[in-house]
Amino acid sequence: MGLKEYHRKRDFERTPEPAGEEHSDRDAGSFVIQKHAASRLHYDFRLEMEGVLRSWAVPKGPSYDPADKRLAVHVEDHPLEYGTFEGIIPKGQYGGGSVVLWDRGTWIPEGDPLASYRKGKLKFRLDGEKLRGTWTLVRMQGAASEDGKN
Ligand code: MN
Repeated sequence: MGLKEYHRKRDFERTPEPAGEEHSDRDAGSFVIQKHAASRLHYDFRLEMEGVLRSWAVPKGPSYDPADKRLAVHVEDHPLEYGTFEGIIPKGQYGGGSVVLWDRGTWIPEGDPLASYRKGKLKFRLDGEKLRGTWTLVRMQGAASEDGKN
């Protein structure tokens, strides 16, 4: 995906969010969850992959109950610099509202993360300050997006 869509949606003269850039040389696996009080409150779940933060908006946030299935909407890649962002996106700007860091740490994929991501089933361990354990992201049948093909 890359950062084109991220940059296209935002006016960096008006939002305090970082413009950032792609860091394809890095190989570490950080993750971050930001609580985003936009027009609808949601949790943005981001996994470092291929020099960017692959991102999903999770309306209800993560669950500890393995029987729970929570909706996660794949959204545009964000720059790694976004992983430390907290602040207020002005009203009228894309995603206007407050962003606070809710959790951060490292993620350890089960198997080849890129192949799993492209196949639409990503299983991983999270070692965060709040979240510790194993979660799975599964692409739903009939999803309208082309996520994972690039
Ligand atoms: Mn968001």
